[in-house]
Amino acid sequence: MVQSGLSQPEKVIGSSYNHAKFKLLTPSENSTKTPEICHAETIIVGGGVIGCAIAFELASRGQEVLLVEQSEIASGASCAAAGMLAAESEDFAHPFMAKAAHESRELLHKHKEQISAITGMDIGLRRSGFITPFRSYSDLSKYKDRRNTTSGVQQLWWDRSTVQREALWLNRDTYGAYYRSLESEVLPVSLTRAYARSAEMMGARILEGVQNVRLVVDNHGVRGIKTAKGEVCCKHIIIAAGLQGEQLMHQVGVALPSSPVKGEIMAVRFPIDQAGGRPDRTVYAEDVYIVPKANGEVWIGATSLPGRKDHSVSANSVQRLLGAASYWIPGIKEADFVRAWAGIRPSTPDGLPYIGKYEQIPGLYTAYGHFRNGILLSAITGRWIADLLEGKRAEEIGIEALSPERLNRKGVML
Ligand SMILES: Cc1cc2nc3c(=O)[nH]c(=O)nc-3n(C[C@H](O)[C@H](O)[C@H](O)COP(=O)(O)OP(=O)(O)OC[C@H]3O[C@@H](n4cnc5c(N)ncnc54)[C@H](O)[C@@H]3O)c2cc1C
Repeated sequence: MVQSGLSQPEKVIGSSYNHAKFKLLTPSENSTKTPEICHAETIIVGGGVIGCAIAFELASRGQEVLLVEQSEIASGASCAAAGMLAAESEDFAHPFMAKAAHESRELLHKHKEQISAITGMDIGLRRSGFITPFRSYSDLSKYKDRRNTTSGVQQLWWDRSTVQREALWLNRDTYGAYYRSLESEVLPVSLTRAYARSAEMMGARILEGVQNVRLVVDNHGVRGIKTAKGEVCCKHIIIAAGLQGEQLMHQVGVALPSSPVKGEIMAVRFPIDQAGGRPDRTVYAEDVYIVPKANGEVWIGATSLPGRKDHSVSANSVQRLLGAASYWIPGIKEADFVRAWAGIRPSTPDGLPYIGKYEQIPGLYTAYGHFRNGILLSAITGRWIADLLEGKRAEEIGIEALSPERLNRKGVML
């Protein structure tokens, strides 16, 4: 049966949250066994991979943090992602982002160890390398012409016979392939929940099901938030609400647009007796990617449908993804279909996320618009935001190009 929508694409290892542990200050209720929160140094709005990575980084630096999520941790785009950490295989809008992606991938490997030591959780992070295959010399030439930059990319060229030797499961007619051995992949829901759980264990407070968040600001800057569950005052607010970041910024009169790009993706599983045909490395081709996951599944993605916010999965897309994937890995035709799902990537007009301090409203920070690389960029985003909160300037960190005020400088105010 095809499951679509926000179905969890992975079996998550580890515990969930103690929802009843804290509640927000509700002035009308004066007696409760649950400790009430009326103040937090920093409030993060949004419990996707970005908000949770920021909570993790801040908590690990001893900062007081409250994260509020309207639904559940990892219920937005982070639950739909393929989890590729494609720092060298992706084509970034800006060379600066390629460098950040490298750093973030390596930081994620460090976080894996930290998370495991703190919580014992397994995030399914593996460095198996990515293969980018080509059908012909002409396809290879077009690819080289199209790539923005290959500087800093660590890759080997595999000719036909090397491909046949190294990847027995890949189409025997493959002309050749790039092999990038440092590329990695992770289970995105496990990563997001593990970030949240680790942050909690280091003292952060995580509240799920907090709806109707209203930002409270005055002439001096950020004051706190009001929600359907009560209110909290704070010094800093970080908007990490993915696609909905735009609506939150609207509340304070700022237009920072983010538009939806829907992606459909699916999972198959190779039967035990067909394990030899199962890929052991990610195939990152021009028309499809195929990612063997730590949970035993192989994920195949993804479509790219700008302007679409629905979570349906069309038969046509499944057919197209399967067609492309089984060209590269013929054994996929015999694999068992597991499920398909869809998610919405948050894109921005210039292809760069909004990460930084909103100077005109002291205490307000943004971290959204990561489009197709939010899982990869989560670790470095957490570090950047924590550095800013410690008083470093965007120029010192080298992220002025990501400033949430870059569009406003061009006059885009509500
Ligand atoms: C099909 C697909 C494949 C992808 N593959 C990859 C990949 O391989 N590698 C990669 O790096 N990236 C990938 N991505 C992109 C990645 O999923 C996103 O960039 C990333 O998940 C964005 O994370 P986020 O935390 O900003 O947003 P989200 O995960 O959407 O989290 C935002 C959270 O904020 C909450 N929220 C919203 N509004 C409010 C509010 N008012 N109050 C409280 N909470 C609120 C939401 O409920 C949500 O939980 C993929 C995306 C898709 C759709």
